[in-house]
Amino acid sequence: DIELSHAVQRVQPSATLAVTAKAGEMKRAGIDVIGLGAGEPDFDTPDHIKEAAIKAIHDGKTKYTPADGIPELKEAICAKFKRDNGLDYKPSQVNVSPGGKPVIFNAFMATLNPGDEVIVPAPYWVSYPDMARLAGGDPVFVKCGPNSNYKLSPDALERAITPKTKWLVLNSPSNPTGAAYTKAELRALADVLLKHPHVWILTDDMYEHLVYDNFDYWTIAQVEPGLYDRTLTMNGVSKAYAMTGWRIGYAAGPEKLINTMRKIMTQSTSNPCSISQWASVEALNGDHSFLAERNEVFKSRRDLVVKALNACEGLSCATPEGAFYVYPSCAGVIGKTSPGGVVINSDKDFASALLEEEKVAVVFGEAFGLSPAFRISYATSTEALQEAMTRIERFCGSLK
Ligand code: PLP
Repeated sequence: DIELSHAVQRVQPSATLAVTAKAGEMKRAGIDVIGLGAGEPDFDTPDHIKEAAIKAIHDGKTKYTPADGIPELKEAICAKFKRDNGLDYKPSQVNVSPGGKPVIFNAFMATLNPGDEVIVPAPYWVSYPDMARLAGGDPVFVKCGPNSNYKLSPDALERAITPKTKWLVLNSPSNPTGAAYTKAELRALADVLLKHPHVWILTDDMYEHLVYDNFDYWTIAQVEPGLYDRTLTMNGVSKAYAMTGWRIGYAAGPEKLINTMRKIMTQSTSNPCSISQWASVEALNGDHSFLAERNEVFKSRRDLVVKALNACEGLSCATPEGAFYVYPSCAGVIGKTSPGGVVINSDKDFASALLEEEKVAVVFGEAFGLSPAFRISYATSTEALQEAMTRIERFCGSLK
C-alpha cells in the first residue's frame, strides 16, 4: 500500500462537501431529501456575465494567461477595492487564483513554517485549519460563542497571540454563522493588532456583498491603514455573482507575498481558466443591480428561517448580518431520544438523525469547531425552506 505524506495525514476531508454528497446520493436513490448543506446560491450566474464568457471563447481567449491573472482582471480588481473599500492597490499587488480556496492555501504555503500558528476564530469555515496544517502550520482556535455574537473579542485575540503567531484569519460575514464585524468591532481588533507587528491578517471578505438591513460593510485594512502592509484582503466572485463553478478568487496585499503566491502557482496550477477570468472582468466592472434584488430574497429567507428555528423546541437562533447561513444552537435537544430511537449526545447525532428520520440535510457544528449547533444554508428555494422548517419543527417536537 502507498505510504501517505505526513502533511496530508494531518487533514480531514471537507465535512460540508461530504454532507452535500450524501444528500445528492439519497436524492438519486429517489428519496425526497432537502439539502441545506451546500454553500452556494441557488440563483444562476447573471446573463451579462455569461455573455462575456461566450464572447471570450469566440474571441479566442482560450490560451494560457499569466499564472496569477490577466492584467484586465487585475485592473478590475484594483477598481473594485477602490470603489467598495476605499483601498488603493496596484495590479502588482493582486493575485487571481482558481477560487478563493487556493488564494488562502497559497498564502499559507508561501508563509508558514513548522510551529507557526494561525489564529482561527471558531466557529470557522471548515477549510482554514486544514489548509494551515497542509502548509505545515498549526491552527489555534478561539471559541467565539453566542455571548460574543460569534465574533472574536479584542481580549480573546490578545490572549491567543503568541510569539509564534503568523496569521489571524478574519471572515466577515462569516461562514458558518453569517455574523459580520461592524467598523467599531474591527477598530477594537485593530488596536490589539497594532501592538503585535509580527501578526499578519488574512481577511476573507467572500460574503462582502451579501449583507442585509443596510449593514455598513468595512474591511480591516480600510479601518486601520496602519495594518495595510501586513494584510491580505481576499475576496472572489463565487458567492455574490453566483459563480461557484467558474473558479475565480482574488486577493491584494504586499508585493513580496503576492510574488511568492505567484511563484507557487507557476509550479502547480498555472493560471485560472482564461474564460472565467474574462467573465469576472465583466462581473466586477458590469451592472450590479441584480445584487440588491437577490439580497431582498436572501433577507426574507433569513427571516423566515430564523423565526421558524426559534419556534422549534430545544433550538435557538440569532439573526445574522449577512452571508446565507444561520447557525442555531441545539443545546436544548442534547440528551433527548428521537422517534427512531437515536439518543442525541452531540450535534453530529442530531444532524444524522434529522437526515435519516426527516430527510433534511444540515451540517453539524463540530465540523466548524463550535458545538452543539448546526449550519443551515438558506440559499435554496423558499418553498424548500418552508418544507424543511416544517420537518425540523416536527422532528424537534417529537424528541423525548
Ligand atoms: N471563504 C469562505 C468563507 C467560503 O465560504 C468559501 C466557499 O465556501 C470560500 C472562501 C471559497 O470560495 P471558492 O469557491 O471561490 O473557492
